[in-house]
Formats: sequence, structure tokens, C-alpha cells
Amino acid sequence: NAPVTLKRLGPDAEKFVGKQKKLYIDGKWVTAASGETFAVIDPATGLIFDHVPAGDKVDIDRAVAAARRAFDDGPWARMTPADRGKLVWRLGDLVEKHADEIAQIEALDNGKPVNDARFGDVAFSYELLRYMAGWSTKITGQTIALSSAAPFHAYTLREPVGVCGQIVPWNFSFMMAVWKIAPALAAGCTIILKPAEQTPLTALRLAELVEEVGFPAGVFNVVTGFGETAGAALAAHPDVDKIAFTGSTEVGRKILAAAQGNLKKVSLELGGKSPMIVFPDADLEKAIPAVASGIFYNMGQTCSAGTRLYVHRNVSDAVLDGVARLAEKMPVGPGLDPISQIGPLVSDEQFQKVRGYIEAGVSEGAELFAGGRRVGDVGYFLQPTILANTRNHMSVVREEIFGPVLCAASFDDDGIDAVVREANDSIYGLAAGVFTRDLSTAHKVAKRLKAGTIGINTHHVVDPALPFGGFKQSGWGREQGYEAIQLYTEVKSIGVAL
Ligand code: NAD
Repeated sequence: NAPVTLKRLGPDAEKFVGKQKKLYIDGKWVTAASGETFAVIDPATGLIFDHVPAGDKVDIDRAVAAARRAFDDGPWARMTPADRGKLVWRLGDLVEKHADEIAQIEALDNGKPVNDARFGDVAFSYELLRYMAGWSTKITGQTIALSSAAPFHAYTLREPVGVCGQIVPWNFSFMMAVWKIAPALAAGCTIILKPAEQTPLTALRLAELVEEVGFPAGVFNVVTGFGETAGAALAAHPDVDKIAFTGSTEVGRKILAAAQGNLKKVSLELGGKSPMIVFPDADLEKAIPAVASGIFYNMGQTCSAGTRLYVHRNVSDAVLDGVARLAEKMPVGPGLDPISQIGPLVSDEQFQKVRGYIEAGVSEGAELFAGGRRVGDVGYFLQPTILANTRNHMSVVREEIFGPVLCAASFDDDGIDAVVREANDSIYGLAAGVFTRDLSTAHKVAKRLKAGTIGINTHHVVDPALPFGGFKQSGWGREQGYEAIQLYTEVKSIGVAL
């Protein structure tokens, strides 16, 4: 099967996959100091199709030294904001130029549908690069009137935070990398990027484009490797000024502990268990597809996925039947097949974990309303699944499954209090969706939900200009928009005794 999948690659993606992979450190392509590599697996077949260097602490040390030099002494530090912005913009142009190729590599490596990769992940990435390029020239401080009597002129500067370690997950590998690097580059930081071991390829392709744009050596470095080795070394490194992490809440805690040594700045985008609430007056023709994509987009491997559905008893049958019918119609197949809407899960480990949750849900008393079965006998394909009659105490409702599994519960109350309480009953607070025609209900509920992003009559709301991040254990800090620039800058106060 592997050749069948690989045959769907275009010539550029095929050429990239066929190339020997190296780390990108200080503007050069190098092997891991240990000489070790690890395998890259096609989740549609379970077969190995590539190898990448297994970078570890020694390689992280090399990359941090390069990023340190580039930040402290290099031409990057003296470049004008306008010139910096032009480089970031040009990177956006190159990503767009190679969008089909990047999408194909991502679809092969991660398993996601190639059109989602092309028009979701990759399109968002080049738009974000351009959006952040614009901020380069608009990062300013303030002049401040002091309260004290002495004649003073006081002002603030907003300066790049320095050398940034950026650790990203496998679910939107390329886009997560760009979410991290775009504001950091716009702000004038230097970077060591560590992609997830399940999906290391597109970060290396990104490094080739960075090289082609002509960023000075050491500004952007990529070290592929495992979390416990390369990732942990980066999080603990004393010369790293800031660590930005997207991944599980469990690993987020480890990052935080590792960062304590030099008290580097930390931002975290962590897990979620986001609710979607459907009120009885909702426009079901729109709500049903929004709920289906809220959970099943990217096979549910989305931190902000709408994993918990609370639907009013009066419309519960209609909504569940509607979502189940849409789920049945979603073609399941390899990400590289353009008709697939549901690709494989990213890895065997993830596949087993999600199946385990479906079994746990049923044994805890949930009803297997739709899906739940493996598709085919190669690769990690799973039907989109609905568990009905779930209750908030069940593990499937409390824990992040990170797969195509909707946990649905109905509610009777005509008020908003009870359902808002249920929706907020989670350690997470990343996103939420509210479906109603009543403006007052929509805004009241949006105000009371404890989550970083709320969709009204939609679920997924992401845009380069809109801050994204979590309440509670879903994280620290916000990416996108000006908030992301703030994450990558420090404020300095200057007072002049006149
Ligand atoms: P993960 O936490 O296992 O891994 C994420 C990254 O951390 C990988 O690059 C991994 O190599 C690295 N890592 C692992 N152990 C490490 C350690 N000890 N020190 C340093 N780095 C380490 O998560 P995953 O399985 O790759 O991704 C799935 C999780 O990510 C889900 O929980 C999901 O909700 C979360 N996620 C959150 C967001 C968000 O924006 N909030 C976005 C995407 C994914």
C-alpha cells in the first residue's frame, strides 16, 4: 500500500520526500551529532516511508548557540523593522507558491485530507505570515506622564524577548510551526523549532523556504527529535529566553517545570474538551453541519474540537440523527486521496487510545449512537463516532480523547443556568460553540462560558487577527493578533530626569 499512497504525491513533494533529511542549524544542513535517525510512518498504511535525524541535547546546544549569536550580534539584531517585515512577507509568498506541495507532504505525514491541509493549514499559514509581517513596523512603546513631581520624560520600548524555543504537536504540524514562528520573527526574536516526532517533515520544508528567503544564519533553526530528549533539552536550556509550547496539558506541566531553571518566559497552548450547546430555537440546517465539522474536522485531532454536545431535548433526535447522517456520508480514506474527508488517525498509539475511549464510554453507560468501528485493515482509520446519553462524570466527557468521537447529552431546562454549568464543568477552557437564534441568549451564554474562543452559530473560529488560547488548564497566553506580538516582546521603561 505504501507505493499506492506515495504515487499520489506531486513531483515536488515526491522530490522532497526522497531527499536525505538533515537538521537546519546556523544556516547549514547538518546530521544529528549522534548520527541517529528515526522513522517517519504513513498513517494510511502503517509503513515507514522516510527517516529524519534524531536530534538531542547536543544538537539543541548547537542550535541555541547559533540563535543566541544571531540575536545578540548578528545582522538580524540591527535590521530595521521594515526589512524584517519584508522577509516575513516573502516567506508567506513562498509558502503560497509551494502550497500544494506542502499540503501533500502534510497529508502523507499526518494523514489529514489534502484539501484540508491545502485550504486550511497551509492557506492559514501564508495569510498569518503576511498578517504578522505587517506588525513588524507597528511595534511601539508609549510616552507616559509620571505621577511624581520631578520633571521627567518617561517612555516605554517594546523589544524582542530574545531566543525562543518553540515546541509543536503533530495535529497541525506546519500550521502550528507557522503560528509560532510568524509573530516571533516579526518581533525580531530568533528561534529553535522542535516539531513533533510523529510529523517532522513540513518543519524541514519550512526551513528550506526560510533559507530561500534569505533570513540571516541562526535566526531560524529546526531540530527534529523526541520530546523527552530534544524537547526537554530545549525547555530547560539556560540560554533560551522564552519557550512556547503547543501540546498536551501533561507535557505542558513538564515544560513549566523545566523552564524554572532560568525562569524563562513560558506560553502554553494545551488541551481542550470544548462544549457545543444547541438551544431549541437554533437554525438546525446550519447547526447540524457546524456541529459535525466542530467535532470531525481533522478527525477530531483538534485542540479546540467541539467534543461535548449539549442539545435541548426538543431537538435532540433531529440533531443527533442529522450529525450521524453527515458522518456516515464522509468518505474515509488516505489523506492524499482528494475525495477523503476523514483520513487515518496520526499513529497506532493514537488509534488505540481513541478506540480504548470508545470502549470505556460504552462500558460507563453511553450509547454507541453512530460509528465506532475501524475502517479497513491497514492504517489507522476509524469511523466518525457519536456516543449519546453521556454524563459529565464519564471519562469520555472529562478527558481529552483527541479523536473523532462526539459525546452527546441532552438537557431539559429552558433557562441557560443549568446548561452553562454543565458546559463549564471541565478542567479545560479552550473553545465553545453556542447555537441559537436568540441574540440575548447567545451573548449571555458567550459571556458566561469559561473559554478562550466562543463561536455563535458556528464552532471553529480562528483568524490571524483573532487572539486564540485557553482559560483554565488549556493554557497560558494568546496567539494570533497583537496578543501574539506581546508574547514575543518585553516592555522596557525609560525615565529621563530633565
Ligand atoms: P504532546 O504534548 O505529547 O507533544 C507535543 C510536543 O511536545 C511534541 O513536539 C513532543 O515531542 C514534545 N514533548 C513531549 N514530551 C516533552 C518533554 N518532556 N519536554 C519537551 N517537549 C516534549 O502532544 P501531542 O500528542 O503531540 O499533541 C496532542 C495534544 O496537543 C493534545 O492534548 C491537544 O489538545 C494539544 N494541542 C493543543 C493545541 C492548542 O492550541 N491549545 C493545539 C494543538 C494540540
